[in-house]
Order: sequence, then C-alpha cells, then structure tokens
Amino acid sequence: MTKYYDPVEAMDRAALEELQLERLKDTIVNAKKSPFYEARLSGVNPEDFKSVDDIKKLPFTTKDDLRSQYPYGMLARSLDDFVRLHASSGTTGTPTAVFYTQKDLDTWADLMARSMFCCGCRRSDVLQNMSGYGLFTGGLGIHYGSERLGMLTVPAGAGNTKRQIKLIRDFNVSVLHIIPSFALYFAQKVQEEGFDTKDMPWKIALIGAEPHTEEARRKIEEMMHIKAYNSYGLSEMNGPGVAFECVHQKGMHIWEDAYIVEIINPETGEHVAEGEIGELVMTTITREGMPIIRYRTRDLTRFVPGKCECGRTHRRIDRIAGRADDMMILKGVNIYPMQIEQCLMAMPEVGQNYLIELVTEGVSDQLKVKVEIKEDYFVEDMRALQGLQKKIAKNLCNEILITPRVELCQHDSIPKAEGKAVRVIDNRDK
Ligand code: ADP
Ligand code: ZN
Repeated sequence: MTKYYDPVEAMDRAALEELQLERLKDTIVNAKKSPFYEARLSGVNPEDFKSVDDIKKLPFTTKDDLRSQYPYGMLARSLDDFVRLHASSGTTGTPTAVFYTQKDLDTWADLMARSMFCCGCRRSDVLQNMSGYGLFTGGLGIHYGSERLGMLTVPAGAGNTKRQIKLIRDFNVSVLHIIPSFALYFAQKVQEEGFDTKDMPWKIALIGAEPHTEEARRKIEEMMHIKAYNSYGLSEMNGPGVAFECVHQKGMHIWEDAYIVEIINPETGEHVAEGEIGELVMTTITREGMPIIRYRTRDLTRFVPGKCECGRTHRRIDRIAGRADDMMILKGVNIYPMQIEQCLMAMPEVGQNYLIELVTEGVSDQLKVKVEIKEDYFVEDMRALQGLQKKIAKNLCNEILITPRVELCQHDSIPKAEGKAVRVIDNRDK
C-alpha cells in the first residue's frame, strides 16, 4: 500500500525549498498580471530572489486589500478563464470573493484528496459532507476532493439531523465532514434518536472551519466513537485542504509545495522565533487565476517543532488558537474564547454548548458565560447547582484571571448557529 497520496508530501526539504523558490518567482510574474499586484509589486524583480526567505522583501496583502479590489481587481487572467467563485463566510465583516480557473480547481481537488488520505481516508470509504453547499468552500471543496480520492460522496449538506442519520446508516458512511460545534450537538441528537454511537458505521470525522480546542476534539471522539482530525483552510487560500492532521494528530501538515508559510509577530510584521505563536501568513504558489502574496490570515498559531512520525516533510502548524479579531479585552486583560472553551470542555459536568456575553453594568464591563450542563448534573438540588456554578467560575478565573458570571443552562437550550458557531456576543455600550 502506498504511504502517501503524492510523493511530494515526503520530499527532501532542500528540494522542497528549491521548488518553492521557483514557484515564488513564477508567482510574482503571474501576479503582476492583475491590476492590484501590477501596482503593488512595481519595481519587484523575481531575479532578486535567491532563497524562499527573500519573500520578506514583498509587501503583505490584507483582507481589506481584497475587499478594496472586490470583485475583479485581484484577477491575473481574463474573466473568460474562470469557471467558479466562492466567498468567505464573512465571519469578521464583508465577505471576500475568490475565483478559480479549471486548473485551480484541479489543484485544489488534489490538495484536498491528499489531505483526506493523510488522515486515513481511502477510496473504499464513503464520505458524507455535512457542510452547507453554496458559496462556502466547505461544500464543493470537500466534495470534489472526496471524489478525487475516489470515495463515494454523499452531498448531504448542513442541518436536518434525522435525514443525516438515515443517510449515514443506509449508505454505511465511514467518513463525516462536519463542523466541530455541530458534531457535539449531532452526537447528542444521535443518542436521542435512539441509536448508540458505537453502532454507527463511521470511523473518521474531518472537523474544521472554526476554532476548537483539543478538549472539544476529545469530547467529539468520545461521544461519537470516532477519530476526529483537524482540517484547516480559508477561502482566500482556496478553502479546506490547506493544512490537515495526519493519523498522529500532532499538528496539521501545511502543504508547502502549494503555499509558502510564515508566522509573524502581528505588531512588527517580523518572523517569530521557531515554535512561537504568531499570525499565519500565506502565499499561494500554484494558483494561476488569483494569486495572493503574503496574505495576513489573522489566524494565530505556531509551527510544531520537530519531525512527524509519518515521514511527511511538510511542516506542521498547531491548532488555531483563535483569530486576532477574536481577542476580547476586559479590565485590561486579553482573553480568547478558546481559553474559555478549553476550560469548560475539560469539565465532566459541562455539556456541548456555551456562549460568552460581554455586557456593560454601571461603569464597568462584565463577562458572562452561559454553560449547558449535562442532564445528569442538572438536578433540583439548589446547593449542588450553586456549587457547580462556583466551580466553573473558579476554573475559568484560573485560566483567564477574571471571575465571570456563570449561568447554568439546560442542555440544548443555547441557540445553535446553522454554520460556524457564534461563541461571543458583545452587548457592551459602545
Ligand atoms: P471567514 O473568515 O469569513 O470565516 P472562511 O469561510 O474562508 O471565511 O473561513 C476561514 C477561517 O475559518 C480561517 O481563517 C479560520 O479563522 C477559520 N478556520 C478554518 N478552519 C479552521 C480550523 N481547523 N481551526 C480553527 N479555525 C479554522
Ligand atoms: Zn504526520
């Protein structure tokens, strides 16, 4: 049995970096065909690039740049050459549009197939895609990748839990593509429908599209009796299939033959020291239609040091700690929602969902955390509940240095978003 989907995954590092340099030079030439980069890169000569590290000479591209070029300013080909567009989900503002030529779609499907193979999917598997189809890249992106790998692909789309369960059982679905916040909810629903998750045919879940903690992953794995693998991508870099966990689950291999990857200090723009956390910056080096150079993803992560046991030479990034935009500042303390999730999901009493709310009370801002509690713990004994409330507040305070107001909620009582989970509601006076 072949070990890798594509031999490039285990390519010697020096050769990989040479390939990156060649592709970077081609990318500069190609990018200059777009109105945006023609202006932005005037005076840049690819011949001046002697190593991949020289990428530092190039300017960053931001989400605002993409927004300012909406709709067609970033295109390096004539419109006739494009066959598809997608858009970002718009989690942090106006969505950005991304365009693909047929060749770009092919490259993306290959990256996607490689990613799925990497965590154990094979052509004999049946994949159910529980992502919303449409402009969101998690629909068609996963779909074409799954077909490329040769899996029988069930385009179930999002929602409708009962139908999802029926399809899974009828077609012996072995791989699910499911958003992590929905997976936690779904696991519960499967049980409520009278099925034991042990008896379901699934074995692999591909989870991604939104930040989640190791604790949430473990909870999904335990509740569903499944192996869950982290899948990272963003529409500006095609969509899913940018970085993926292998079976060792120790960080996500980021495909360096397709992207040049940097991690920078978001304040200074300089590279952080190896292993330090910072903002992920990415350059497409195989995309012909809409090349993007040094894209500031706003996602925070670090390179996982050392080599992976699987033998792949492409570096690994750690699970995304959050988006730079997610940071809350309260009473002078910086807090990320994932710190709160990590703490909550590690507690056996806590159920599947939570919601963070920021409010102004009098002159100061307060942090409220609504937490769904497992049914077994939702007893009528007031003292027990108060004790639990205090315990959660204390654990959270240890993590975030602020004591939040904790509200215990019955399971399934916090509204569930259709797509990516909304974890924070900011109701502070502006
Ligand atoms: P939007 O930025 O509007 O949500 P996208 O649909 O393109 O648009 O989503 C990409 C973003 O989703 C990433 O930049 C990242 O913040 C988040 N994301 C995707 N996959 C993961 C993952 N596995 N872990 C954490 N965050 C993720
Ligand atoms: Zn690996």
